[in-house]
Amino acid sequence: ARTFFVGGNFKMNGSLDTLTKLLTQFNEATLDPKTEVVIAPPALYIIPLRDHARKEISVAAQNAHQLPSGAYTGEISLEQLKDINLSWVILGHSERRTLFHETDDLIAEKTAAALKTGIKVIFCVGENLEERETNKTTEVVTRQLEAANKVLSEADWANVVIAYEPVWAIGTGKVATPEQAQDTHADIRAYLAKASQKVADSTRIIYGGSVNAKNATDLAKRQDIDGFLVGGASLKPEFVEIINAKL
Ligand code: 13P
Repeated sequence: ARTFFVGGNFKMNGSLDTLTKLLTQFNEATLDPKTEVVIAPPALYIIPLRDHARKEISVAAQNAHQLPSGAYTGEISLEQLKDINLSWVILGHSERRTLFHETDDLIAEKTAAALKTGIKVIFCVGENLEERETNKTTEVVTRQLEAANKVLSEADWANVVIAYEPVWAIGTGKVATPEQAQDTHADIRAYLAKASQKVADSTRIIYGGSVNAKNATDLAKRQDIDGFLVGGASLKPEFVEIINAKL
């Protein structure tokens, strides 16, 4: 059985004060002990929020640089995340791919570097609207996964969670239907099975894109949906209901 996984991606939102208060609410809530919970705050709030979080809530970075150190103004390295004992990083988010021009190969390189450094990866994939409308979803998602699979060993996959986030569903209020999400998750699992049945059976594939407390329950019932990566709703108390979607 795959442990249900719910991530909160705060993106570039919140302040030290508002995010500390939000985390206090999560700390005090009843959380399904069977759900693994990870929050990803803006980089400069990682340390205070990590120190404030109850032990069941882990903290992730939203991005990192692949090289250990050097003249890369504005960047934070995976080595530095390791230095503060951070256990997770989100890589390949569609906003990084689109707005910051990160390529499949760069994301694969970052993923390999993270796993080598001992940091687990929430690896994001997903098609845009035009790609969905021209039936290219599986092709796009497979291409994004293939870039990583080329540089990862079979054992590496144990430390990867795949987040399927259709770009047209992110921040739009247009959630994928449970059928649409399940179909793509099944395709992703079938892709993994080509490499290894064990990897396919054990890798968590989570859904992201306009997840909220209302739609989470139905999505969570689908056999290949192993959790969520939540943006907007992770900044609200309803994040607790998404964590508890299986209860
Ligand atoms: P929303 O939940 O705001 O659509 O964002 C999803 C997302 O991008 C999580 O990484």
